[in-house]
Amino acid sequence: MYILRKITEKKKNKISLATLLIGLVSISVLLTLSILLFVSYEYKKQSLYETTLTLNLSTASKMSQTMDSLFISMRSSLKNAAAFYSVVNAADADYLDLIRKSSNYFNSIMIVDESGVIRNISPSSIRAPGEKIVTDAAIEAFKGKKPYISKPFMSPSTKQLIVFISEPLYDEKGIYRGFIGGSIYLQKDNVLNMIFGNYGLNESGSSLYVVGSDGSLLYDPNIIQIGKNISSYPIVQQLMQGKSGYTLTKTDGISLLAGYSYVPENKWGIVVYSEMSTIKAQLNIQIRQILLYSLLPFILLMLATIWFAHRLARPFVMLANIVGNMGNKEQKLLTMDQHWNREADVLTKTVVLALNGIQLKTDQLTQAAMTDALTGLSNRRSLEKTMKQWIEEQKNYSIIVLDIDRFKLVNDTYGHQEGDRVLQHLSKIVMATIRPGDLCSRYGGEEFVVLLPYTNVQDAYEVAERIRESMENSENHLKHRITISLGIAHFPSQTRNADELFVLADQALYKAKNSGRNRTLIAEVKNEYLYSFNRNN
Ligand code: GH3
Ligand code: MG
Ligand code: MG
Repeated sequence: MYILRKITEKKKNKISLATLLIGLVSISVLLTLSILLFVSYEYKKQSLYETTLTLNLSTASKMSQTMDSLFISMRSSLKNAAAFYSVVNAADADYLDLIRKSSNYFNSIMIVDESGVIRNISPSSIRAPGEKIVTDAAIEAFKGKKPYISKPFMSPSTKQLIVFISEPLYDEKGIYRGFIGGSIYLQKDNVLNMIFGNYGLNESGSSLYVVGSDGSLLYDPNIIQIGKNISSYPIVQQLMQGKSGYTLTKTDGISLLAGYSYVPENKWGIVVYSEMSTIKAQLNIQIRQILLYSLLPFILLMLATIWFAHRLARPFVMLANIVGNMGNKEQKLLTMDQHWNREADVLTKTVVLALNGIQLKTDQLTQAAMTDALTGLSNRRSLEKTMKQWIEEQKNYSIIVLDIDRFKLVNDTYGHQEGDRVLQHLSKIVMATIRPGDLCSRYGGEEFVVLLPYTNVQDAYEVAERIRESMENSENHLKHRITISLGIAHFPSQTRNADELFVLADQALYKAKNSGRNRTLIAEVKNEYLYSFNRNN
């Protein structure tokens, strides 16, 4: 019992086959899924980075081409205006308004003569014709006598952040006659806004800014930033050297995927960039989708595994139960279905074969343990078991205890073996006399016990007498008259106790011996027992 408890206690810490299988499959599936996710994450990240970088570069290049063409046409617009100017009245303010409004290239246009005096300006609200030019940019353009683009500067008259572009004016003799200049108000609605304003933050999450040849911001979706010098940015330095390309970069601690393109016409640069965090967010969405898609197959796989694991473990569990129950109750011979798993099938068959063998052997041994070898009758152990059982079942029955008279003499006279044959002879006589439901046992030596179910003392007495007479009158192989003495007791009229029942019958037998042998006596019961018995029944 102690060992059994130990085994059961130990069992608690052990993993079941089903759990093991489910665990193994879960681990391998999770591991595979993790690797798959990791690999696809890395792959997608790489390809997304590359795609974004290429896309940003291509956008920057396209924008740079647009800007290039724009500037060429801005210049030619100025040149045309200048050529036309020579044939119209320079003081005609409407003329410049027309040029400015028809192209929308410039926020303001002015014509300055060879003495540095403004001859005409549009819109006229800024300054009056006849005033001298004052800004560094205008003076530089005036003195340079060639096409000019200024750095961004704050105009004192308009209070605007300006980029100033000019074309020199020469008359037909080639004499310098001043310049025609246009301004772009960087922080107002302007030509740059017109082109890039739509771009802003597009659906791919990328942004764009334009930087001048000195590294200051000329266009940015965030107006406040315009004019800020960002020449320290590595990308801007590349642009200032006239280079184009793409790169992973960091500005103000934010990682960016940037494409940048140089504009040869005005030496500006265009940068298109995407924040790494935006790309990663997209990536996370994609990975989440992959996870979601793989979740259903994963759940199905797990369910299949659980089912499969239980199917696989079932024969082992059944075998364990059968083996565990062995000996607890009477087992029938086992039959087991075929199992689709080879190991389980082999084990099942082997165990079933072994168990059936053990069962047969046990049955044989049990049979042997319950029978007397010499007579083939049931033995004392079997008798006691039956008596106890009948008493528990409250089955009323009589018991006859019988003993051969002077058997020692038989043995002494004819030898032990001949005595054995007498015992066999007696057993046959008893068996021939009693009914099928009656039970005859060899109690030990030359003493036999007969149990007669549902038989009262009188009927039992008759049976006993028949046995006694049969024995007395039968002829045995020794031709020696052998008699027996018998004692009878009855349950429950004489006692309710199995041991006492036997003792009563044995006492009756003892009396039969003492009163001359070859006779049957019924047990005598004390008066008090009979009194209490009658009262109870
Ligand atoms: P009683 O009438 O008082 O019963 O006299 P008894 O001689 O039969 O009684 P006792 O108890 O003195 O002797 C029993 C004898 O039975 C002794 C023993 O040799 C013999 N005996 C016991 N078992 C066996 C057996 O299995 N085979 C043989 N042949 N003899 C046995
Ligand atoms: Mg005897
Ligand atoms: Mg005896």
